[in-house]
Amino acid sequence: MPFSALGLPPSLIQALAEQKYSEPYPIQKEAIPAILKRRDILGIAQTGSGKTASYVLPILQNLQGNTASKNRHVKVLVLVPTRELAAQVREVFYVFGTNLPQKIKSLAVYGGVSINPQMMALQGVNVLVATPGRLIELVESNAVHLSEIDTLVLDEADKMLNLGFKEEMQKIFAMLPKKRQNLLFSATLSEDLEGLKQLVLRDPVVIKIEEEKNNIDLISQLGYFVSEEKKGPLLRYLIKHNAMKQVLVFTSSSYKADNVADKLRKNGIDASAMHGKKSQEARTEALSRFKKGTLRVLVTTDLLSRGIDIKFLPHVINYELPRSPKDYIHRIGRTGRAESPGDAFSFITPEDQHHFKIIQKKMGKWVTMIDSEGLDLQGI
Ligand code: AMP
Repeated sequence: MPFSALGLPPSLIQALAEQKYSEPYPIQKEAIPAILKRRDILGIAQTGSGKTASYVLPILQNLQGNTASKNRHVKVLVLVPTRELAAQVREVFYVFGTNLPQKIKSLAVYGGVSINPQMMALQGVNVLVATPGRLIELVESNAVHLSEIDTLVLDEADKMLNLGFKEEMQKIFAMLPKKRQNLLFSATLSEDLEGLKQLVLRDPVVIKIEEEKNNIDLISQLGYFVSEEKKGPLLRYLIKHNAMKQVLVFTSSSYKADNVADKLRKNGIDASAMHGKKSQEARTEALSRFKKGTLRVLVTTDLLSRGIDIKFLPHVINYELPRSPKDYIHRIGRTGRAESPGDAFSFITPEDQHHFKIIQKKMGKWVTMIDSEGLDLQGI
């Protein structure tokens, strides 16, 4: 089925061709016609499913001839949990919004950076992508008004709830017009999310996209038995011996991420850490260098791993295991996408062994284990 069968206009079809999107993904086939008809949506889908374009494209079309009459009155509000996702979603609005007969101005706003440039940039904005806290600050300082919102999108709603944004979200809902279109996307359906769904959605079209099960089979997984002290040398050994050019390393804390990146740099391996305690500039810079392939190693924590879409990532290393098996699957799912197979290595200390067994059981797959004692880690 081509994109043109979904009711999108020629200018967007052309932009899709330029972006080399040849056919709609399953979520796009279902969501685009429904959003064009102004229906509410509940989309249960992961990053990688194509969920962003599934709402960006029809929203852009719905906005044609329908932008707000007053300045600083946005028509579309997209709430997201992290700054990275905000920038990523805004980019998709920008890419598809440029060729339209009526240009659509979009902006991403988030905390951790100075508010003044964002206040100024809000002039003439139609689509606002925001993290909850910063949005409230901007509304309270009259830099933006929400009284003309037609469409509300909650992207990665489960993560917003997990990060404790519930109260802020409720505060924002109370500022919106009652009559509006609501699009809620979430990777999981929890009890909390059920409440949000009841609160926000009216007679939604429900779209459930299962995570690609066979994705796991594309990933070659290995576990390395290693002591805590030998993790650094083992990491350098794997990077060097496998001639890894682009590797994502996971740790369980910001402190550890910094520590691992520092050690790699001291040993002549280009590495940077990206986590919630870094400045926004440093995070954006590290991610953009990594995506371009000019940064060899990015060390990060689970908090920032979701929602970051990096195409064709060949290597993932769990320097420390995540607590939940779901996070493990999510982490290794960063590699082995589509036609590009990848590998995922996990460092297993004696204390981790039991936990790693639980992870494997939940995943339904056993991982081959290698004893790092047998590797020559001297002088690495
Ligand atoms: P998302 O789930 O929205 O983060 O999208 C995952 C990735 O798929 C992004 O890099 C998109 O650029 C890409 N993508 C989305 N829809 C399509 C499509 N129909 N054809 C090809 N690539 C797509």
